[in-house]
Amino acid sequence: MEYNMSYLYASFFYLLLVFYHFLNQKKLDDLKSRMFFSFVMIGLLDIVFDIICTWIISGVINVSVWTAKMCFTFFYVLQALIPFFLYYYARTLREDREKRGVSIFGWYTAILCGMLILIVLNYWGGYFFTFNLSGVYSDGPLYMGMYLYAGVYVLLTATDSIIHYRQLGKQKFFVICELLAIMGICVAYQYAVDDSLTTGLGIGLGMTVLYLNIGNPDRCIDSMTDVFDNQYFREWVQSRIRRSKEFHVVAVEMHRMKVINKIFGNSFGDRVLIHIAEKMQEISGSYQVFRLNGNRMMIVTDSLVEYERVRKAVVKYFQQELEIEGEKISFPVNICGIPHANERKECDELIGYMDYLISLSAEKGRTTFIQGDWQTLQNFWYTKEIEQYLTIAVKNDLFEVYYQPIYSIKEKRFVALEALSRLHHPTLGWVSPEMFIQIAEKNGLILQIGSLQFGKVCRFMKDHPELMAMIRNVKFNTSPAEILQEGYSRKVLETLEFHHLPAGFFQMEITETIATEYSENVYRIVDELVEAGVELCLDDFGSGYANLNTVLRLPFTEIKLDRSLLNGIPGSQHMADFYRSIVDVLKNMGYKTVAEGVETESQLELVSRWGVDYIQGYYFSKPLPEKEIVEFLREKACTRKPCSAAFYQRMY
Ligand code: C2E
Ligand code: MG
Ligand code: MG
Repeated sequence: MEYNMSYLYASFFYLLLVFYHFLNQKKLDDLKSRMFFSFVMIGLLDIVFDIICTWIISGVINVSVWTAKMCFTFFYVLQALIPFFLYYYARTLREDREKRGVSIFGWYTAILCGMLILIVLNYWGGYFFTFNLSGVYSDGPLYMGMYLYAGVYVLLTATDSIIHYRQLGKQKFFVICELLAIMGICVAYQYAVDDSLTTGLGIGLGMTVLYLNIGNPDRCIDSMTDVFDNQYFREWVQSRIRRSKEFHVVAVEMHRMKVINKIFGNSFGDRVLIHIAEKMQEISGSYQVFRLNGNRMMIVTDSLVEYERVRKAVVKYFQQELEIEGEKISFPVNICGIPHANERKECDELIGYMDYLISLSAEKGRTTFIQGDWQTLQNFWYTKEIEQYLTIAVKNDLFEVYYQPIYSIKEKRFVALEALSRLHHPTLGWVSPEMFIQIAEKNGLILQIGSLQFGKVCRFMKDHPELMAMIRNVKFNTSPAEILQEGYSRKVLETLEFHHLPAGFFQMEITETIATEYSENVYRIVDELVEAGVELCLDDFGSGYANLNTVLRLPFTEIKLDRSLLNGIPGSQHMADFYRSIVDVLKNMGYKTVAEGVETESQLELVSRWGVDYIQGYYFSKPLPEKEIVEFLREKACTRKPCSAAFYQRMY
C-alpha cells in the first residue's frame, strides 16, 4: 500500500522545533519539566521509528528481516509507552499540586508491563505483526489490540482528571482534555483512512499544546528580571524537600526599593532590580536565582562550599554603593543565609523562617547578614507556636491583666496602676508581652486583644470602687494599630460609658515611636480622647530616637523615663547627668515624670533626689494579678509605709 507520509514528516519537524525551543530556554529542575522532557523524547523517537517502519514496509529502504523486526518491536514499545506516559503525566500534574510524589510504579504500570511482554513475545508469536521469510510485512491477529490498549489509558486519564478536577485545576484539566481530543481525532482518522499516518501528527500537536500551556519554562520566569519567579520557587523547593535533596539559600531583602521608586521613579526602580538580578546571576554561576516577591531575591546552591562562596560575594556586593547608569546609589539590604534549607518541612515553613531571620536583622541604614542556626531555628519555632496560640487565646479570651503599682514620692503612697497583659501557654509557660504584642501587631490580632483587655480593666475597676478611691488613675498601653484603627477613640469612650467610669480615671500610654512616626493621625484620635478627659502618658521615653519636638506636640501629662536610661547609670557619670538633666527639662516644661524600672534602694534614692515624681519598679512591686493587687493596695493604704524606714530617714 502507498502511504501518505507528509503528516509524519511535518510532525517530526514540528516536534523537533518544540524540543529545540524547550532546550534553549532556562533549564528547570522540577518534576513537571523532567516529565515533559521525557514525554517529548518518547514522542520524537516514536515518530522517527514510525517513519523508519513505513519506509521498510513500503520498500523505500531495504533491510534484513531481523532488522525490520527489531525496528517494529521498538516502534511498538514506544507506541505502548506513550498512552502510559499520558496517564502518568496527568497524574503528576495533579499530585504535584498535592505536594506528594508520584511513583512511576503503580497498578497502572501493570497494564504497560503486560503489553511490553506481549510485544517481546510477538517476536515468536506474531501477535501484532509478522514478517515472512522474504521480508513481507503483515498485521498479526492482535493488531487491533494496540488501539484497545491505548483506549484503556485514554479512558483512565479522562476518568482520573474528571474525578480529581479540583486538585488539577481548570487550566490543566482543559489542557488534558485538549490533548486527549487531538490525539483521539488523529488516531481515529488514521484508523478510518487507511493510507494516512496521522497518529504522529496527534503526538506532535499534543506536545505543542502541552509546551504552550505547561511545559514552557518561560512560564516560570519573572518577565522583568529574567530570573525564576515565586511560583516556580515553591514548586522547586517542594520537590527538593520531597526528594531530600540538599540545598542552601542566600536571600536578599531589598527594603530600599520603595524609597528608590519614590525618589527616582518606578522605571529607574525597575532598572535597579534588573541590574541586581544580573549581578545575582553572575554571582550564582550555574545555580538558580529566584525572585520571591517585589523586594526579595535569592540564590540557591547545591553544596555548602558554594553557599559560602555565594554568601561572601553577595554580602561584599551589597556593602558597596551600587552604580546604575552612572548613578551611585546607597542600597543597604538585609541578607539572610539558610544552610541545609531542605531540612525544613515545606516551602511555606522555609519562607516563614526566612522572613523571621530577615526581621531579626532588619536594620534600615546598613547592609546586614544573618545566618540561620540552631538557636534562631528554636526561636522561630517558639514564635510560630505563640503565633498559633494567640488565635486560640483571642478566641477563648485566655489573656489576663496584671497591675503594677506606681508610687508618688511626694505623697508617699501609691497613686496609680499600670495595666499589663499576661498570657500563659500550656507548655511554654508565661509568654513575654513584648513578644506576643509584637506578633499580634503583625497579624492584626492586637485590636481584639486591646479591646478584650481594656474591657477587663474597666470591669475590674467597676467591681472595686475602694481601689478607685485609693488611686488617681489606671494607665493602659496602646499599639500603633489600635490607635490608628478607625473609630478607636469612640470605642474606648463607649466602653467607659458602658461601665459608668469617668474618662479622667484613665491614662493612655503611647510609646515615643508611635508619637514620632504616626504623629498626624495620632493627633486626631488623641484629641478626641483628651477632650473627653482621658489623660496621656508618654511611655518608654529615651528608648528610641524620638524627635522631642514632634513627640511633645501631643498633650502629654506624664512622661515615663525608660528603664534602659536607669540601667545605664551605674559606672557612667555621663548617663547620670543625662538622666538628671532630662528630668529637669521635663519638669520645667510642666510634665510629671515617672521613673520606670526602679529595682534597688539606691536607684530609688537617686531618682528621688533628682526630682522624679513617680516610681514604677520591682523595688515596690512586680505587676500583680487582680486579687493580689487589691490586697497589696489595701495593706499599703493601712500601713502607709511602702518603703524601708532607712530610706525615709535619708530622704526626708
Ligand atoms: P511598658 O509599658 O514599658 O511596661 C513596663 C514593663 O516594665 C513591664 O513589662 C513591667 O513588668 C516591666 N517592669 C516594671 N518595673 C520593672 C523593674 O523594676 N525591672 C524590670 N526588669 N522590669 C520592670 P511587661 O509586663 O513584660 O510588658 C512589656 C511591654 O509590653 C510593656 O512595656 C508594654 O509596652 C507592652 N504591653 C504589655 N501589656 C500590653 C497591652 O495590653 N497592650 C499593649 N499594646 N502593650 C502591652
Ligand atoms: Mg507602658
Ligand atoms: Mg514603659
